[in-house]
Amino acid sequence: MKRIVLTFLLFAFLFLSINSTDQFQKERHSMVKYQIENRGIRDKKVLDAMKTIKRHLFVPDELKYYAYDDRPLPIGYGQTISQPYIVALMTELLNVNKESSVLEIGTGSGYQAAILSEIVKEVYTVEIIKELSIKAEEKFKTLKLNNIHSLHADGYYGWEEKSPFDAVIVTCAAGFVPPPLIKQLKIGGVMAIPVGQPFRVQNLFLIKKISEEKIETEVVTEVIFVPLVRNESK
Ligand code: SAH
Repeated sequence: MKRIVLTFLLFAFLFLSINSTDQFQKERHSMVKYQIENRGIRDKKVLDAMKTIKRHLFVPDELKYYAYDDRPLPIGYGQTISQPYIVALMTELLNVNKESSVLEIGTGSGYQAAILSEIVKEVYTVEIIKELSIKAEEKFKTLKLNNIHSLHADGYYGWEEKSPFDAVIVTCAAGFVPPPLIKQLKIGGVMAIPVGQPFRVQNLFLIKKISEEKIETEVVTEVIFVPLVRNESK
């Protein structure tokens, strides 16, 4: 009898602990299937990363039940975590792998950096709002995402000491492509960057660096991002 009770307790414990560590796994897998695969994202590395990284840990606790919805969400300080599909699309466009070193401008919640950390060798991420930068850095430490390196600075200037990069991803909208970011890209490397006016529909550019003098630009789609700001706030 005692044995049966003990076995039952063990199973109950296992069941509860599995459920509590990942209560959103089902939502996450359907997010990947319906919002991402169904819209044409095929890179398995991207799909796997989006299945692995727990998006609900990157949104404010009171919004965790909306974390797998098909939309951006507020993360405080007037900023947003991008819609899951846009994160997947931009990540796929970078065409990166386990050898790559990637620069991200606009750390925000840290979610995009976390997705990249599953796929590439090193992620360098720059955020202009100090509180967001500190919060994201703490999250990376807690989640043991040790290949993400954070910097609180104006990302317009990139992160020169860590350059050149195989890819650059800008997750805020710039009025024009910042020249330092092109300079810090390797020849053959790519940059995904929304370009346009603040709070209007912007163009998502995919830029390829052909040589030190030449880039090729392709417009991928229309997007709406928060603006890349220039004054160091806080
Ligand atoms: N990649 C983020 C999305 C963040 S929203 C995520 O996954 O959550 C865009 C972020 O860009 C905001 O946090 C904003 O503060 C930041 N940002 C705006 N201008 C910037 C600049 N010049 N340099 C660095 N970060 C900037």
